[in-house]
Amino acid sequence: MAQITLSNLAHTYAPSGEQESDFALKTLNHVWQEGGAYALLGPSGCGKTTLLNIISGLIMPSHGRVLFDGTDVTGLPAEKRNIAQVFQFPVVYDTMSVRENLSFPLKNRGLAGAQIQARVALIAEMIGLEDILDQKARGLTTDAKQKISLGRGMVRESVNAILLDEPLTVIDPQLKWELRTQLKSLHRELGHTMIYVTHDQVEALTFADTVVMMHEGRVLQMGTPESLFETPKHTFVGHFIGSPGMNFLDASIEGNHAVINGQPVPLGANYRNPCGHTQIGIRPEYVQFTADGGLPVVVRHIEDLGHRRIVHAELERSPILVSVPEGCPFDSTMTQVRFIPEKINVFTDSWRVEGETF
Ligand code: ATP
Repeated sequence: MAQITLSNLAHTYAPSGEQESDFALKTLNHVWQEGGAYALLGPSGCGKTTLLNIISGLIMPSHGRVLFDGTDVTGLPAEKRNIAQVFQFPVVYDTMSVRENLSFPLKNRGLAGAQIQARVALIAEMIGLEDILDQKARGLTTDAKQKISLGRGMVRESVNAILLDEPLTVIDPQLKWELRTQLKSLHRELGHTMIYVTHDQVEALTFADTVVMMHEGRVLQMGTPESLFETPKHTFVGHFIGSPGMNFLDASIEGNHAVINGQPVPLGANYRNPCGHTQIGIRPEYVQFTADGGLPVVVRHIEDLGHRRIVHAELERSPILVSVPEGCPFDSTMTQVRFIPEKINVFTDSWRVEGETF
């Protein structure tokens, strides 16, 4: 496994593209640690596959370099990079048995029979294929075939990285839940550098230690699932992560208070006159109904999710969502909310501002 360095990396598909809008991937400078579990997360068209394919060698970047453990591999084709890839759709040999499919990458590299047997048995057990090892791949369900693809991706011990591009797309929803968790423990046990592309935040947050949140060809934030949830660097991250996403309200900031519609809202930190378009961001989980001293809201409707209710309300004319956990008293006559000060983030021109804690 390798540390992966992206040095001034950018990519345009346009042959003579030099304008920023021509770039599917805007300039990146990152070091991805050896053995890390990374998820590339973002909406369709944000550049996830382009970045993955540059790392794998399927695309030669128009600008910058890719290094594996300090060695420049930018000009090397995929087959020379010693990486394993798992795609959206199963890539298996139908005429071979499950065992033969799993053994194939190891045989190809000349491993001894006993080593192959041991490794295949281990991977098959980890991924839940041990009962069908001697069945032919032909005739198996798509789920089982995709499990074989995952197994083939994991079977080689010496790969620099395992790259997975939306690997659970074809998996049945129930099994998806199971495999998501399994992939996480596979990473823990096998210790490979793994990069997982997805537009599904649940998959990204379950699998990754580090989530790389992308939007319009840019990496907006790289951090733990918790940091993306609690302190999103950009309003887009706050909005994309969480279900529902973060609330944003226009506010002026005066030191340790925000002012919304003339009413002061205490903040958990001190801000030195941020300028530009200022907003506060607060997650629905950190908004509470209160009997007095809060901001006035009008409740529009309530979504009952069983374990919690999502209350859709309006604060002046701005929509605001409140998450009310099961067991918390709430009725639609409640008309004021308060925010947990330490959980409020401040943004100017969509970017988070770091406050000074008291
Ligand atoms: P999705 O989740 O839909 O696969 P993505 O985040 O992986 O999206 P990319 O496939 O990397 O995004 O695409 C990023 C941008 O590059 C998009 O605007 C896309 O239209 C463009 N693009 C991708 N492949 C090519 C190509 N071969 N030629 C020209 N433009 C391309």
